[in-house]
Amino acid sequence: MKKGVGLPVFSGVAIGPAVVYRKAQRTLPVSSGDPAVEKAKFESALEVARQQLTELFEKAKVEIGEEQAAIVEVQLLMLEDLDYLDGVNLAIEGGASAAMAALDTGEDFAQVFAAMDDAYMNARSADIRDMSRRIYDIICGNTGFQLPEGSFLLVAEDLAPSETIQLPRERILAFVTRQGSSSSHTAILARTLNIPSLVQSDITFEEVEACTVLAVDGTTGTWYADPDEETLAMLREKQEKAAAARNALEAYRGKESVTRSGKKVLLVANIGCPEDAVDALKADAEGVGLMRSEFLYLGRKNLPTEDELYDAYRQVAETMGHRPVVIRTLDIGADKQVSYLGLEAEENPALGLRGLRICLTQEEIFRPQLRAIYRASVHGNLHMMFPMVASVWELKAAKALCARVRQELEEEGIPFKEVPIGVMIETPAAAVLAGDLAKEAAFFSVGTNDLTQYTLAVDRQNAKLSEFYDPYHPALLALLAHIAKAANDNGIWAGICGELGADPKMQEKFIEMGFTELSMAAGRILESRKLVCQSEV
Ligand code: PEP
Ligand code: MG
Repeated sequence: MKKGVGLPVFSGVAIGPAVVYRKAQRTLPVSSGDPAVEKAKFESALEVARQQLTELFEKAKVEIGEEQAAIVEVQLLMLEDLDYLDGVNLAIEGGASAAMAALDTGEDFAQVFAAMDDAYMNARSADIRDMSRRIYDIICGNTGFQLPEGSFLLVAEDLAPSETIQLPRERILAFVTRQGSSSSHTAILARTLNIPSLVQSDITFEEVEACTVLAVDGTTGTWYADPDEETLAMLREKQEKAAAARNALEAYRGKESVTRSGKKVLLVANIGCPEDAVDALKADAEGVGLMRSEFLYLGRKNLPTEDELYDAYRQVAETMGHRPVVIRTLDIGADKQVSYLGLEAEENPALGLRGLRICLTQEEIFRPQLRAIYRASVHGNLHMMFPMVASVWELKAAKALCARVRQELEEEGIPFKEVPIGVMIETPAAAVLAGDLAKEAAFFSVGTNDLTQYTLAVDRQNAKLSEFYDPYHPALLALLAHIAKAANDNGIWAGICGELGADPKMQEKFIEMGFTELSMAAGRILESRKLVCQSEV
């Protein structure tokens, strides 16, 4: 048996086989210097790509239908395109490595297709990129992530949201990452899925690959590779105790969340997709306090259409019925990137083009979201809020577009309901200006993850800064008290949807400050209700 540690971000015990998630190689391949060798590499990669795509095509036909499978077929045809093949060979003769020739020629072709005056051809540019990336990966030996059968613990250096979105969530027993922080999106996902998780772990990939069973104890922050009998017995006992504690919490199911002195608090869930809403309901959430809509944009090759967004929002609205649902408009940028938006790499992405800033500068991205939210509003009790607001004018500009969208829908005869518009308070500027923003907003929801990062100037993703990322910092608590007061003084409600909302050390304090809604991973609702119901504040 080997053991080690990590920073626990969600408690519980998991035992099972482990899989290492390896990222694709990042260093650029260099040419051998011999065009004949590079051409041979390219030819054999083409053959492998042909086999892979043929298999994928057959599988897709059975699993997702003929129409969708056609996307794969298009890539198979592109592999035979003489212009593409000539382009690659020419680049190799010019000194490029086979891998870079395949990738760069693909990019050139993709750009030509993207510039064409034909929507079908435009859409093919993503297929060309995908196909040339496949050849590149084959040449570089980036074999990707082989999913095992059954349930497993996932070990990775770190995981980006775009990577977690592609994982089969229902089969993951635990996350262990060597990097990451407690407010990283892997940690947030682990809490959403209710599974034990360690970040900043000292486990090595060799240790994982050498063991048959890995156990993670999220209560102590310990991992065990091939645990001995005694350790296994201790871990199983913990699992049983945790199950008993969960059962005891069932007494709070269906109860109102009210303190002993009569303060009513809404305990709601953070979700990323319509399926999470089903889990939220099962966990007895009184609504959705934060739908991270960017998860509808991750792990795909193009922008979701208005209809796709509408479908997702309608499902959530219908699932939650009369319960309030707060949809946050797109918060892409920083650690949540999608290549199809074509955003330039930034030196300081956390301070860059993200959240509402993207929406305000690219109306074609914002408008479909607003239309989808309004169209879905008739199916439930929808609210919307904007992320990363720093100035009152930003809120006013976003609201003005909402008004134009409502007008449009009215003219088109499409029904919609009133949708209260709120602001995420997650920049120090918004916190300080809470009094002004409250005059323009229907509610506040505090994103403590980002508010901590920006108030303390500490990157929330940087594992080396954990001791400085202090969500109990007096500066942050002063801002929180100010936000709650500004909301109450102006007659609007305020909630907390950052990870701190589920913190049992803080929940009473937040209620005392005047927050009336706490939004969290669904698995935390019942224990939070117990705390609220036993609280004297
Ligand atoms: C936050 O910043 O606290 C928040 C809830 O948003 P996200 O974690 O998605 O940035
Ligand atoms: Mg945030």
